[in-house]
Amino acid sequence: MKKAVYPGSFDPITIGHMEILQRSLEVFDEVTILLAVNPNKRSTFSVEERLEMMKEATKDLKGVTVDFCPGLTVDYCHKHGATHLIRGLRAVTDFEYEFQLSAANHFAAPDIDMVFFMAKQENTFISSSTINELHRAGVDISPLVPPIVVEMYKKLSK
Ligand code: ADP
Repeated sequence: MKKAVYPGSFDPITIGHMEILQRSLEVFDEVTILLAVNPNKRSTFSVEERLEMMKEATKDLKGVTVDFCPGLTVDYCHKHGATHLIRGLRAVTDFEYEFQLSAANHFAAPDIDMVFFMAKQENTFISSSTINELHRAGVDISPLVPPIVVEMYKKLSK
């Protein structure tokens, strides 16, 4: 049984995240999509709201669990028997950050390896921050996110 963890901010979850998750399920038997706190990012949605969206968006995917980890992701992997971390790469700009992250993770836990999936070409522009900006500007973001995210934006603006 091969277990992996897909960590991220998921603020909110997008079809880009969903695509990476689905492809990772072709390689791993179980994938935990893990809400990890990124101290460098200010969030639009609360932890609870993000978890709700992640759970609803992945509820029909076999082998997926959703969880939250306030601490180190590699510690979470050790505790839950996961051997790999999954990340996505969109453009060269992602590479530097992901390369450093992978080196830091390797230093902290050499037994946990990272696996990178290249974004589908049409999803390369999709990021949570772009979605937030488009939504703020009044653009219909529904083709870019799971339906629950559209619902949550409506609640947010009330
Ligand atoms: P973080 O704050 O940890 O970068 P994100 O939720 O922004 O969290 O991203 C989680 C992972 O998903 C990252 O590896 C990111 O590169 C990847 N990712 C985000 N959007 C896409 C996309 N459209 N296509 C492929 N990978 C993506």
